[in-house]
Amino acid sequence: MSLQDITSRITKAEENAGRRAGSVTLIAVSKVQPDARVQDVLEQGHRCFGENRVQEAEGKWPAFKQRFDNVHLHLIGPLQSNKARPAMELFDVIHTLDRPKLAATFARLAHEVGRCPDMFIQVNTGEEDQKAGVLPADADAFIKECQALDLPVRGLMCIPPVDEEASLHFALLGKIAARNGLEGLSMGMSSDFEKAIALGATHVRVGSAIFGDRVAS
Ligand SMILES: *Cc1c(COP(=O)(O)O)cnc(C)c1O
Repeated sequence: MSLQDITSRITKAEENAGRRAGSVTLIAVSKVQPDARVQDVLEQGHRCFGENRVQEAEGKWPAFKQRFDNVHLHLIGPLQSNKARPAMELFDVIHTLDRPKLAATFARLAHEVGRCPDMFIQVNTGEEDQKAGVLPADADAFIKECQALDLPVRGLMCIPPVDEEASLHFALLGKIAARNGLEGLSMGMSSDFEKAIALGATHVRVGSAIFGDRVAS
């Protein structure tokens, strides 16, 4: 696979779903990938990337941002409150807002700094113990809580359980978003992004299908 293969599969999936061309944003997930591969994708003109650890992103992206204009960075991994400030400085979008303490921290920092990254609220649709995210039953209240703090909540994000049909989780996420009037849906990875687009994904997070397997280099 290559960047171009993935973008044409996205275009086809948009078309099949009767959706406008370009309505889905491709987040190229560059975590753990060697710099040479990331640079290759930047040189092909792609500018939207996802990382799952603040520290790793801090080591890698300031230099790329100096060499390439208009880089757009998405944080897609779990976030500790004490990393909220550096996350806010580096990332344009945070996909993993999932608890009141983190929401309060971002609200305070946003007030201090005078701006705030766009936010997606992560929902633990599979109700898995080991996974981050607000439980589906608590999602409506948490969304309202974040909005009351004036956080720019753009949508919802989920990572379906590996051993379950992803479509069920994508549909559930879409339902929760719709009843809360949210338009953004961050869902779909290398193995299932077309299904996610069929169910309304606005942001797909694709790593290995673009960059190759994540091997320790
Ligand atoms: C790693 C990761 C992805 C990308 O996974 P691939 O299967 O390589 O496409 C997407 N979303 C999150 C939250 C991830 O951590």
